[in-house]
Amino acid sequence: MPFWEDKALHELNQEEWESLCDGCARCCMIKIEDANSGEVHYTSLTCQLLDLDTCRCTRYPERHELIADCVELTPDTAARFDWLPVTCAYRRLARGQQLLWWHPLVSGDPQTVHEAGISVLGKTLPVDSVHEDEHDLHIIRWIETTSSTEF
Ligand code: SF4
Ligand code: SF4
Repeated sequence: MPFWEDKALHELNQEEWESLCDGCARCCMIKIEDANSGEVHYTSLTCQLLDLDTCRCTRYPERHELIADCVELTPDTAARFDWLPVTCAYRRLARGQQLLWWHPLVSGDPQTVHEAGISVLGKTLPVDSVHEDEHDLHIIRWIETTSSTEF
């Protein structure tokens, strides 16, 4: 049985935990929270530290010191953060769901997350290329975060 099905999230070692990230970079997309409803909207803008060609963080070891909004995922937050995309491996495992075919751990190929259209590859702009007053013009709907769209 693969480790992600055999162990709970809090039982994983660091290497196993890191390997769960599918490399989609959806969590690196800029989000706007509605002040009234609390609803979180994703935009097609991504953190300025994301490499848009690889969908990888260019400053991963020091990301939390450099970007205040860079979220720290833990077994606890993966279960609590409703705004995480339904595709996120941490969210899925925290809710008892399976990894899907395109996850690199399942497919054995780091490219399948891109080929399946799950990653942000080719879909976003760097946030610092757009004026802050215009961020809301870039709100998108193709990231699913609600339980009604779980699969
Ligand atoms: S959304 Fe989840 S799986 Fe995708 S890059 Fe972020 S942490 Fe990794
Ligand atoms: S600092 Fe790195 S991991 Fe964090 S949001 Fe930015 S690109 Fe993503």
